[in-house]
Amino acid sequence: MKLDLSELMSGRASSIRFDYTFDPEHVDLECAALPSDVTIPENGIRVTGDAVDSLGFLKFRAHVSVAYLTQCARCLDEIKEEFDFDMERMILTAPAEEKNHVNADGEWDGVLDDTLTVNEGRLIPDADIIEEISLGLPPFALCSPDCPGLCPKCGKRRADGDCGCRDEKFVNPKFAVLKSLLKDGEESERG
Ligand SMILES: [Zn+2]
Ligand SMILES: [Zn+2]
Repeated sequence: MKLDLSELMSGRASSIRFDYTFDPEHVDLECAALPSDVTIPENGIRVTGDAVDSLGFLKFRAHVSVAYLTQCARCLDEIKEEFDFDMERMILTAPAEEKNHVNADGEWDGVLDDTLTVNEGRLIPDADIIEEISLGLPPFALCSPDCPGLCPKCGKRRADGDCGCRDEKFVNPKFAVLKSLLKDGEESERG
């Protein structure tokens, strides 16, 4: 969204309120990307807040709510999640020295600028909002706090009922690695 701040910058208004939704598909992202298992539907990001003149300094203040789809970390079912946060930025009316947050490999250094720059009276905060989302999203989600996950043997969802798998005891993956190392050792002694 392009927010028109010309009234604020000329002193004719002391604040500009905004309330809009957007879709990350339509934002030019320089660096931050959303995790691959996260999908934000159209208009899934809502931004409400204002740009204010605070003792001669312009500030952007917003509350951001995100509705997104992701997978349950245990049973892999698709689930809807929500996440919201507040953000604040100083607004610069003239471009400051460019800070480069992308290395030679095109990777973002994960540093957020604390400023937004006005361009021809307009402020475009959406890329910065997505940076905040990509840093703040919870690292994983569960369909329910006690989701029993999948059967390690047949892969069926345990919440769907008894899959009938029994007998074999769960082998800790660490021991499975040890076991294969021992086997390799025996073979190389023989060879
Ligand atoms: Zn689950
Ligand atoms: Zn099973």
